[in-house]
Amino acid sequence: MQKDNPLMAVDYSFYDYVTASQSRLAPHLIDGVPDYAYREDFALRKHIKRLPGFYPLAKALTNQYVPLIKQTLNLKCLKVGPSQFSDVYDKAVYCARILGIGIPTVFIDNDPSVINAFTVATEDEAPMICISSGLLERFSEDELLTVIGHECGHIHNEHSVFDLAAQLLIGAIGILPKMNQALTVLSTPLRLSFLSWSRAAEITCDRAGIICSNNKTDSLYAEAKLLFGASQDRNDINIEAIFQQYDSLRGTPVRLIEIESTHPIPARRILAEREFLSSEILYQWRPDWEPPETELLAKKELDDNTAKFVSIAKNGKRKDSK
Ligand SMILES: [Zn+2]
Repeated sequence: MQKDNPLMAVDYSFYDYVTASQSRLAPHLIDGVPDYAYREDFALRKHIKRLPGFYPLAKALTNQYVPLIKQTLNLKCLKVGPSQFSDVYDKAVYCARILGIGIPTVFIDNDPSVINAFTVATEDEAPMICISSGLLERFSEDELLTVIGHECGHIHNEHSVFDLAAQLLIGAIGILPKMNQALTVLSTPLRLSFLSWSRAAEITCDRAGIICSNNKTDSLYAEAKLLFGASQDRNDINIEAIFQQYDSLRGTPVRLIEIESTHPIPARRILAEREFLSSEILYQWRPDWEPPETELLAKKELDDNTAKFVSIAKNGKRKDSK
């Protein structure tokens, strides 16, 4: 009797997919880091890693938190999958494949008053993305895709250890108050450098969000919605008017309030995203998109221009402002 060859049962289509995916993505990695990562994000990550003992501490804390967060999400939120909210699940699968990461578990929380999404990932646990029900309700399908792409960017860039450490440092997480007390002894410059890194990491992930988008400007409009809470499903947003609003504050000390923030203000993020739309890297990821007629920005130029908008100290004037 002829025996079945066990190799016949192997799904070669998946193997082919992984092989093709790896060869497609290899040119996008520089020293293991995605080529779209914003320079300041990468530089500060390296700097933080060099602080004696800090990275192992942050990792140990993260490893304590992540199972707790996972259990809490499982307890309180809805887990999406092929059998429920499959459209949301499909978006996560799509973004994960574009960036070449594992498919994250996606939860939807139960608070419609909040517009937010966050990611938790370590080496020891499968990555998780949580999307607020407010965001799901008030963002379009295309805007939701760019948000999930952004969150997958955090996974792709292994931001979670640094991100959770930064949140601990600024007291944004109160699950383990004793740890928070212990961490308050850390110096203000260290805390501010974490916040600065956190803002730079957001720029990296806004770029990932654009790479995963259906349309080039979805990310810009999703960002603009954060300014007014996307209320009443209004879409009459004028990006140029937002820039003019930003210009009126750019030169005043009010802008320094951002120094205590984990995220850049939306106008700065939109300006940084607009630079990315003119970059060589974007059209290497998205050869299906028609590039602008102007000369595309090389990586250094892109990051130099981005720093002008994102750095609180530099506070650069946008080129088309009056
Ligand atoms: Zn983010």
